[in-house]
Amino acid sequence: MAIGELLRPVVGETGKPGTLEFVTVPTGDDAPVSARLFERASAVIPGGVNSPVRAFQSVGGTPRFIAEASGYTMIDADGKSYVDLISSWGPMIHGHAHPVVVEAVQKAAATGLSFGAPTEREIELAEEIIGRVGPVEQVRLVNSGTEATMSAVRLARGFTGRTKILKFSGCYHGHVDALLADAGSGLATLGLPTSPGVTGAQAGDTIVVPYNDLAAVEAAFAENPGEFACIITEAAAGNMGAVPPVTGFNEGLRRIATDNGALLIMDEVMTGFRVSAAGWFGIDGVAGDLYTFGKVMSGGLPAAAFGGRADIMAYLAPAGPVYQAGTLSGNPVAVAAGLASLRLADAAVYEKLENNSKQLGGLLGDALSAAGVRHHVQFAGTMVSVFFSDGPVTDYAGAKAAETWRYPAFFHGLLSRGVYPPPSAFEAWFVSAALDDNAFSIIADALPAAARAAAQAEAGTSK
Ligand SMILES: *Cc1c(COP(=O)(O)O)cnc(C)c1O
Repeated sequence: MAIGELLRPVVGETGKPGTLEFVTVPTGDDAPVSARLFERASAVIPGGVNSPVRAFQSVGGTPRFIAEASGYTMIDADGKSYVDLISSWGPMIHGHAHPVVVEAVQKAAATGLSFGAPTEREIELAEEIIGRVGPVEQVRLVNSGTEATMSAVRLARGFTGRTKILKFSGCYHGHVDALLADAGSGLATLGLPTSPGVTGAQAGDTIVVPYNDLAAVEAAFAENPGEFACIITEAAAGNMGAVPPVTGFNEGLRRIATDNGALLIMDEVMTGFRVSAAGWFGIDGVAGDLYTFGKVMSGGLPAAAFGGRADIMAYLAPAGPVYQAGTLSGNPVAVAAGLASLRLADAAVYEKLENNSKQLGGLLGDALSAAGVRHHVQFAGTMVSVFFSDGPVTDYAGAKAAETWRYPAFFHGLLSRGVYPPPSAFEAWFVSAALDDNAFSIIADALPAAARAAAQAEAGTSK
């Protein structure tokens, strides 16, 4: 067997960026197809992937290249199948290749891929979103969650005429320069506090405070009177693991924003249309001024949206002066996928997601308890997280203080037994409505050995 060498950074125990080391990865004709594909990919794509967490850096090993998927099953390039527990990081709530969504996409594709002119279906998707989330009166469609938050922040600044923005440590809002400070999972996985390439000018107006800490928010506003354009928060945090807002937190943000003439941006890119028909708003009823959506509303194609109060949205070009545009925005095929997905997501689907997340959380907790691993399974709606901690995690410091070094062993224990969990201790687990008794029996069979591997893991090992 030929042996290839790949450079990979080692993430240290502290989560700080470590050294670069060469690891041997089997390549050549005898190697798994995925490993050979990863070697080929690494030659032409930085790190071999088009989004960092896919590279398995914090769990070790080489990523599985996916050949096809259907329902809850993903099949890799070697023909091995997995029960999918990441659902494309959220979008695939109905499972993969749902026939109704696929048919909608095929029909749309057959009648033209893009026009650069408006279509009726864009109105239908806007109406579907507005019909679900009370405080949203108008929406603009974009291509990614990153674009949505970038545009919402620009709009908040344009509307208020102010510069500063307040965000929370561990909350991720896409890779917008000004929002990358202390931005949770992706960066945490790589052990980066923030990203080189983001200038002081771009990040200097971003104030970062701990999540679930209203006193810190009050203090930041007291120190910067009349300067905040907005508070941006994940309606329930899902990018440091699933960390719900403590009672009164979102209400407190609403009050502080209103009292100070700042806007409240509820980032529901992850929670939107996953945790309830109306997203997290459907759970706590706290109204934001602006909202961002993506993931589920995309149906699995590149589509996202931002929206909110009509008087604020009226500031957007061409109605108003704040510029925002996109060649492929409102793309007819992506809109068809999103619309079909949302229309399929009825009360029965949300009940299924609820039950499936409870069942998954229960199995995870039982297996880890049986193996004697201290842990806390926690939920933010139907998003699930396993923290190797004694009790609930309420902020990023808590998430980082957990025994994340146990995670790689747990992860590979599951992956090797046909279950595909998130390849990072800082990511939530996403169930689909497609999970059935068979899927749960595969998960239940895989868990005991994975939990024992987590129990046997030693601090200081990162693979
Ligand atoms: C995924 C995510 C984003 C970014 O969306 P992309 O489509 O990946 O750009 C923004 N905010 C939150 C809360 C997210 O989970």
